[in-house]
Amino acid sequence: MGRCFSVSHSESLGFYVHIPFCKSRCSYCDFVSYTDFSDMEIYFNCLNKEIEMWSRLLGIRKIDTVYIGGGTPSDVPTVCLSKILSCIERSFCLIDPEITIEVNPDFSGFADLKNLGVNRLSMGLQAADDVVLKAVRRRHSVFDFQRAYERASACFDNVNVDFIVGLPYESHETIVKDLEIIERYRPKHVSVYILEVHKEKEMNLKIDPDRTAIHHEILVSELEKLGYERYEISNFSLPGYRCKHNLKYWNNDDYIGVGVSSGGHIESKRYVNVSELQRYLELIEANEFAFEFFHHNDSFEELRETLFMSLRLCEGVKIEKLKEIVPKINLNELVAMFPDQLVLERDRLRMTEAGMDFSCSLLSEIIDKDTLLRVTGGE
Ligand code: SF4
Repeated sequence: MGRCFSVSHSESLGFYVHIPFCKSRCSYCDFVSYTDFSDMEIYFNCLNKEIEMWSRLLGIRKIDTVYIGGGTPSDVPTVCLSKILSCIERSFCLIDPEITIEVNPDFSGFADLKNLGVNRLSMGLQAADDVVLKAVRRRHSVFDFQRAYERASACFDNVNVDFIVGLPYESHETIVKDLEIIERYRPKHVSVYILEVHKEKEMNLKIDPDRTAIHHEILVSELEKLGYERYEISNFSLPGYRCKHNLKYWNNDDYIGVGVSSGGHIESKRYVNVSELQRYLELIEANEFAFEFFHHNDSFEELRETLFMSLRLCEGVKIEKLKEIVPKINLNELVAMFPDQLVLERDRLRMTEAGMDFSCSLLSEIIDKDTLLRVTGGE
């Protein structure tokens, strides 16, 4: 694969590490994660190996964000996480990095994480309501979250709290309690995701999309009143605390992902690793990359990806960036096709507020292949 990537590039990369282990499974989970930890040691050896393979391929590139997600990274021994961070540090050039790790609210070893150089936490509360938490088999209570958050704040200033709207047994009261928690702790960053409706059957529970939409609307407007800036469809931050790593995804910038099911985007090449643990281990142990998908985007594909990701951001995307990818793009024509959802403002193309309230399905419609062929003159 070495010839697929050029090695001279000065732009800093993001780095994602997937830890596919959780002590228990939540009923709505879509992520690749295993409750059997028997391959954990070999998995971490393979992660190290994969990081070194990337370093040999790309050279010592600059990294300015590291995100360790999963799964539940806080469910594995901190020493394993330490080895991964040391390996990234040895293999690349870390420049004042934002280093985020996802933690479950039953975790307590925050000082150890801080000593590793972690400077941002992401904690999954999901709902400040024990009835809801129990229904979706989260293994923490609201009290566990409060205790963990208070311990975490002694070590970390920059904490994100994740919420999911649309979970079973959620009531108006749940949303009120979510907001009380946010108001009490004022985390620097809040993510609010909507439970995907296709989960309904799997969870054998009825989801009411209208009720979910009302709850989501209340959360969004109250967060804004509390001083949180909505900077992406699902993400809110206090000033100066946007997630730098996730901004790389939304700006379609370059990042490496390592581990089972991880993906990356480097110099217009997009890849996704295999999502089956044993296959991942076999490939990496044989000194091969674990790609399930690898594709070199042409400029049209790069444009589609950039629009799809960047229009999730409230500030949208720089016109200049789109014109760099496809110089002939006619953005006036694109906006004329979706006058209620898209707007050109100063040097940017962005969604209107009405557009932001629609889901990814609207984005898919806007970024439909025929639409883009029309506004790029078939380029
Ligand atoms: S903690 Fe996250 S990754 Fe693990 S089972 Fe629950 S939702 Fe899935």
